[in-house]
Amino acid sequence: MLRSLFLAAAGSARLGRLVESAPVSRGIVQRFVAGHSAEEAVRVSRELADDGLAVSLDHLGAETRTAEQATAVRDEYLAVLGRLRDAGLTPAVEVSVKLSALGQAIDEKLAYEHAHAICAAAAEAGTTVTLDAEDHSTTDATLEAVVELRRDHPSTGAVLQAHLRRTEGDCRELATAGSRVRLCKGAYSEPESVAFQSALDVDKSFVRCLNILMSGEGYPMVATHDPRLISITEDRARWFDRSTGEYEFQLLYGVRPEEQARLAGGGHTVRIYLPYGDQWYGYLMRRLAASPAHAGFVARAVASR
Ligand code: FAD
Repeated sequence: MLRSLFLAAAGSARLGRLVESAPVSRGIVQRFVAGHSAEEAVRVSRELADDGLAVSLDHLGAETRTAEQATAVRDEYLAVLGRLRDAGLTPAVEVSVKLSALGQAIDEKLAYEHAHAICAAAAEAGTTVTLDAEDHSTTDATLEAVVELRRDHPSTGAVLQAHLRRTEGDCRELATAGSRVRLCKGAYSEPESVAFQSALDVDKSFVRCLNILMSGEGYPMVATHDPRLISITEDRARWFDRSTGEYEFQLLYGVRPEEQARLAGGGHTVRIYLPYGDQWYGYLMRRLAASPAHAGFVARAVASR
């Protein structure tokens, strides 16, 4: 019920404006988002790097509807990569990119060219790019883009979503030498025809996919906050004799920070997915939907207006 409320709130522009301008927002926003600007993103990246954590920076922009907006997103990534290089934060900090933000729905070729330019800038800065996974209608195009991008930039990362029925097959395809693959449960609401619907089935699929990736030759990036799946990953690393530099954990900024510290303290590579940018509202509501402990936030933010 509460989860549905937050997800509905994520789509409400009016509530978004109220919450964005409410003073009470600041603390909770800062918990999950680095800030509005590239400067703030670099500052928080440095704090995380000083704590021994790796980072994947994600720019939260408005929905891309025009070629001009897509170009502006590309330019934002080029600029932040320059800042990361100048700050000496590469290779510890990489970037995560959504093809939709680069105009995939308007012109697939343009989005690919922008992604290629970002990969080239990342390589020049001494770091890498991961292409985020979006809804299932884009999976083929996004994975094809990763394959193409890898011709020039072999370290470009792919993301696979365990809730999709196809993903075990994709894991087999991608568990090859040099291949970086982030495995997550999947954040999009998908029909039964393409995706497992129950949490148990998604978890079972996650473990099957994890087994394929951990027993394969690639570099698995295990993106979950789920205590059981984290523990199974630690077990599989021992079972498949992977040292801590041969896979990594990934968690969202602000989610289970004590677990982030525990894993890093245990010698694991831990990468924090760190969003920044003006359009943080929808992202924040989706985080709150996953964490009803913060239920009072929206009510207080609105009541304070
Ligand atoms: P869940 O079942 O959501 O949570 C399991 C447990 O984790 C909960 O029971 C709770 O104990 C704990 N937990 C979860 N959230 C919170 C919270 N906010 N506060 C406190 N405890 C919490 N999805 C995509 O579709 N495409 C992507 O490219 C993508 N990239 C991602 C990158 C990273 C680094 C991460 C961590 C996730 C990414 N996701 C992506 C989102 C992912 O698919 C899931 O929707 C999200 O991670 C929640 O799944 P979970 O594995 O954490 O398990």
